[in-house]
Amino acid sequence: MLDSWLDLVHGAACVGCLTPGRSLCPRCASELPARGTAVRPTPCPAGLAACFAGGAYDDLLRAMILAHKEHATFSLAAPLGRVLAAAVSRALGPDSATVLVPVPSRPVVVRARGHDPVLRFTRAAGRELRGSGHRVRVAQVLEQRGSVHDQAGLTAGERAANLTGSMGVRANARAALARTRRPLSLLVCDDVLTTGATAREAQRALEDTGLPIRAVVTVAATRKRFPPPARLSGPPSGWALPLSGNAT
Ligand SMILES: [Zn+2]
Repeated sequence: MLDSWLDLVHGAACVGCLTPGRSLCPRCASELPARGTAVRPTPCPAGLAACFAGGAYDDLLRAMILAHKEHATFSLAAPLGRVLAAAVSRALGPDSATVLVPVPSRPVVVRARGHDPVLRFTRAAGRELRGSGHRVRVAQVLEQRGSVHDQAGLTAGERAANLTGSMGVRANARAALARTRRPLSLLVCDDVLTTGATAREAQRALEDTGLPIRAVVTVAATRKRFPPPARLSGPPSGWALPLSGNAT
């Protein structure tokens, strides 16, 4: 249903409020998260690096991510990049050059969509951060390997098993990073943090070739509906739970 709705509004109206005109109106653009939040999937894959997200995968951010990914609404890459950049700002190291590593899409998916959405908005985030004086670059260090079954309907454990070994480090990227003499902070970048399984696999692939990562950074993180307040005695399962203040 959301897809057919997006088909209707694609290219003709704001994906947030349906105002005719550009794909993101100034009012909706002004409501985008300007500061990232520390998040954590629950349950969390063992050993997952620190995670930061721009905001919750709801409403406006969800509509933007889907329109950009599924409908190639390229004008949304810059605002999505700004949201990612805000989250990256929370994860920057004190005195090191930062490399943004986009989670790779499967080549068959890139061909079907006609573009690589994560790479596109990660590059936009890199431009945004360099514009504010940060030493940041984007490198396609990771590649997809082997076949992965559809993740839909799998449990978190099944997802992790399905994904293990599905990513690897490009040989030339590894060599290029090794030639850099100053310390590098690697940040894995993706659109949505859900179970953390994809991010954990990206982290595994990098660490297995001696490339430790500083953090995982995404545009958005999923959350399930809150249980009724009276029953809310602990972290609700399924939330990417804020670790510190400033939750959105
Ligand atoms: Zn709007």
